[in-house]
Amino acid sequence: MKTLEGKVAVVTGGSSGIGLATAQRFVEEGAHVVITGRREKELKEAASLIKRNVTTVVGDVSRLDDLDRLYAVVKEKHGHIDILFANAGAGTIAPLAVATEAHFDQTFDVNVKGVFFTVQKALPLFKDGGSIILTSSVSNVLGVPGFSAYAASKAAVRNFARAWTLELKDRKIRVNAMSPGPIDTPALATTTGLTAEQAQQAAAQFTTQIPMGRRGMPEEIAAAVAFLASDQSSYVTGVDLAVDGGMAQV
Ligand code: NAD
Repeated sequence: MKTLEGKVAVVTGGSSGIGLATAQRFVEEGAHVVITGRREKELKEAASLIKRNVTTVVGDVSRLDDLDRLYAVVKEKHGHIDILFANAGAGTIAPLAVATEAHFDQTFDVNVKGVFFTVQKALPLFKDGGSIILTSSVSNVLGVPGFSAYAASKAAVRNFARAWTLELKDRKIRVNAMSPGPIDTPALATTTGLTAEQAQQAAAQFTTQIPMGRRGMPEEIAAAVAFLASDQSSYVTGVDLAVDGGMAQV
């Protein structure tokens, strides 16, 4: 049985990695998806992989006018939203001693301000309850050297889920955070600011810290997000679902 039949879902950061795998899964489960990301070419490529029931809107989640454009398209095409996956995020390595103000601001602009207004501006389009899932990170509970700004921004995201669960309960909107461990996506190799060799070393180091002994796949995150999006999780709200091979437990 398809769990998201006829639902309208918005996925930010939908052009690659976790967002793309989740948009694909949502469509397999019967949803219509609207994906957004910053680069038109990547978005179009993602849409051709998803194949059907997909709309693309180019935009940066840290820009409020881009979010207005995104939701104007959603409103015109579907009239409402059932599921919002606020997933776009940025995380480059920047040890405390050398991190710049620009790095700090960019991390919080995308991960904190971006998620905040992605959700705020979607609210008028939720008509009959719904599910909001926020991508946090296992780093919201771990010390990860070199990623303190990123980890702090993801802890903020986790806390949004707590507060918004209470703020939105009367509208029957559930809000959950979902915290991936190291997942095999382009971000792990390219956007962390590491060379390929450093990324390999970091990945090997991470792997020793994962009880299950391997990195996760985007499809494994997508399955967890599809659960949180669907009525199968109808009594789950305000949690932080770790999808991390047990990493947060050690
Ligand atoms: P990815 O690089 O494969 O995908 C990130 C997506 O977000 C891309 O589509 C990119 O275009 C989009 N994006 C980035 N900044 C944006 C912005 N300002 N506006 C709109 N879109 C933007 O990365 P991923 O690994 O799939 O990451 C997705 C989320 O998962 C992020 O929030 C990331 O922090 C989080 N996460 C990833 C891992 C991991 O190991 N891959 C672990 C924990 C958390």
